[in-house]
Amino acid sequence: MNRLDGKVALVTGGARGLGGATAKLMAAAGAKVLITDLLDEVGAATVAGIEKAGGKAAYLHHDVVDEAGWEKAVKFAADTFGGLDILVNNAGIASDGKTLEETTLESWRRVIAVDLDSLFLGIKHAIPLLRARAGQWPGGGSIINISSIMGFVGMPGAASYIAAKGGVRLLTKAAALELAPSKIRVNSVHPGFTETDMVKGALKDLGARSGGVGENVMKDMITQRHPIGRMGVPIDIANAVCFLASDDSAFMTGSEVVVDGGYIAQ
Ligand code: NAD
Repeated sequence: MNRLDGKVALVTGGARGLGGATAKLMAAAGAKVLITDLLDEVGAATVAGIEKAGGKAAYLHHDVVDEAGWEKAVKFAADTFGGLDILVNNAGIASDGKTLEETTLESWRRVIAVDLDSLFLGIKHAIPLLRARAGQWPGGGSIINISSIMGFVGMPGAASYIAAKGGVRLLTKAAALELAPSKIRVNSVHPGFTETDMVKGALKDLGARSGGVGENVMKDMITQRHPIGRMGVPIDIANAVCFLASDDSAFMTGSEVVVDGGYIAQ
């Protein structure tokens, strides 16, 4: 038996990157997966890939900062797949690489809205559906919030992102305590540098701020900071998310799962 058999998952930002890898792994583990994103063609291709492999998935266009869209997304999960057991709050954006002095209030608010406010909205609107089915599973319902190692440590030029990801870490604990009586677990995952489109952009920014070194040189420098000797790949993170989604993690709530090749252990 697959460990997510019979469960329904919603993965935000599930078209590509960490969300895409998570959606695929969850479907392979037996879940029916609703992918939401802004990238409709990429999302449709991810769904097609899952279906081709024998899994079940659907795609819905949804901007995670849109509250009415959250109501539609959870209704879509209920109408299409019969309910909801797992919410992965994964969608996120990087900050623009500027210093605090250069950052505009508009840019600050945009990152906080996408990377923190949206998780509040997702949790709030998913609770009724998660609660309705939580009693069916030994591990109850499961919410997984994607934070970052930047939820633990700072870095110059990314204050809004770091503030948002630190907020996600503690929002997770507040939600875990409120929702434990409803048999809904809430945990955060903290990826290190993982090879996705977002990180390609971040490496360019970091390189530019480190005296104009190229993206590949920056990648080598970042790689060397990982004791395990490589950057992460999306499946590294997806494995941790699937574990938290499954009943194998039934006694975990309010936990911080760091998946970073040892980066912040130093
Ligand atoms: P990515 O850019 O490859 O994928 C992010 C996805 O989210 C994209 O498909 C994008 O279209 C979607 N998205 C962005 N804004 C959205 C919005 N407003 N509404 C709906 N969808 C939206 O990035 P990724 O690296 O896969 O990042 C996924 C998550 O992991 C993010 O929360 C990111 O902060 C976090 N994270 C990534 C890394 C890393 O190294 N890649 C490290 C730590 C944390």
